[in-house]
Amino acid sequence: MAAITLRELTKVYPNGVRALDALDLEIADGEFFALLGPSGCGKTTLLRTIAGLELSSGGSVRIGDRDVTSLPPGQRDVAMVFQDYALFPHMTVRDNIAYPLRIKKVGKADRQDKAARTADELGLSALLDRRPGQLSGGQQQRVALARAMACHPQVFLLDEPLSNLDARLRLEARTFLKRLQRELGVTTVFVTHDQAEALALADRIAVMEGGRIRQVGTPTEVFRRPANTFVAGFIGSTPMNLVPARVRGDELAVAAVRLPVPEDVRGELTDGEQVVYGVRPEYLDYSPEPASGALTGQVVVVENLGSFSLVSLDVPAEEPDAGATTSVQVVVPEGREPEPGDTGWVTPRPGRSLIYRDGELIGSTAEAAVPAPRTGVGADA
Ligand code: ADP
Ligand code: MG
Repeated sequence: MAAITLRELTKVYPNGVRALDALDLEIADGEFFALLGPSGCGKTTLLRTIAGLELSSGGSVRIGDRDVTSLPPGQRDVAMVFQDYALFPHMTVRDNIAYPLRIKKVGKADRQDKAARTADELGLSALLDRRPGQLSGGQQQRVALARAMACHPQVFLLDEPLSNLDARLRLEARTFLKRLQRELGVTTVFVTHDQAEALALADRIAVMEGGRIRQVGTPTEVFRRPANTFVAGFIGSTPMNLVPARVRGDELAVAAVRLPVPEDVRGELTDGEQVVYGVRPEYLDYSPEPASGALTGQVVVVENLGSFSLVSLDVPAEEPDAGATTSVQVVVPEGREPEPGDTGWVTPRPGRSLIYRDGELIGSTAEAAVPAPRTGVGADA
């Protein structure tokens, strides 16, 4: 087991694509770490560069106390599971699992024994004499994991290990993978473009965009306090509402409602300044009745998501932009869904609103700074 330290790691492909851009990252010993980001952001390149399958164009890779930047893959003591598993179709499960041991010149009896034991740990004992073509997707994935595990590497690198499985199997495999990682305690880096998978599995997540890391944090941190609007939009099964807002003295004009400016940013903001008010659909409460400090608008879409619905409202913007509307989404529990065309009110939950300027998080509503109900609706008119 070992920590991984990346310093200013850069990868420029011969065609000029800068897939990794001076990336700094520390992954702790024994950590289950996710690299998350949209397709093409450099996840696979980063994993392959840690594995030594790609040589970096600049910067360094350390595994444990060794600088492995210019070492070949075989000397890095890592095992990688590829997205398509890359099993040898003409070999049995036993030989597939034992293959890396053969490359390492482990004796035949010893490697057969190790392969059998690893297969046993992964529930594959009954399948040792089959070929990959005679296995289900989930079984193939376990064989790929077993092949990686048989060498007892210091680091596991998994590239979208669950993406070839159908939805139900994927959940099962996810739970299995998490348990396995806990038991083995091996430093594991896994790549995914699926934010739900990263949140469910990882101890910490690095969210990537265009060869850079936009935020590193625990699932709770990246969900609750996305450091920028990119992460805010990427994390969460329903993206965060990002509503244009303007500073008006001590208040923030969000659409047509005035909310107190959070205390931690009060000194930083200037009157009239444009910011973005962020709040997750899960942290808004919907009401068919007027509520103080609530955004109001017309319901346009109601999407049934099982035990709740995702309701989209068109909220009219503030005075200078009269006529414009902003779309705001709110999660509504089953049985309380409105109809399209209804007028609704949505109130942000205490302490769950975020303020972004130029795309970066600058503050949030602390518990105390939450819109205290003013004096009741209509009272200030
Ligand atoms: P991800 O795994 O996040 O989808 P990749 O690491 O595969 O992203 O790719 C990152 C960028 O590098 C993309 O723009 C991709 O087109 C480019 N790229 C990947 N592999 C190569 C390669 N072998 N040669 C040139 N460009 C590549
Ligand atoms: Mg990839």
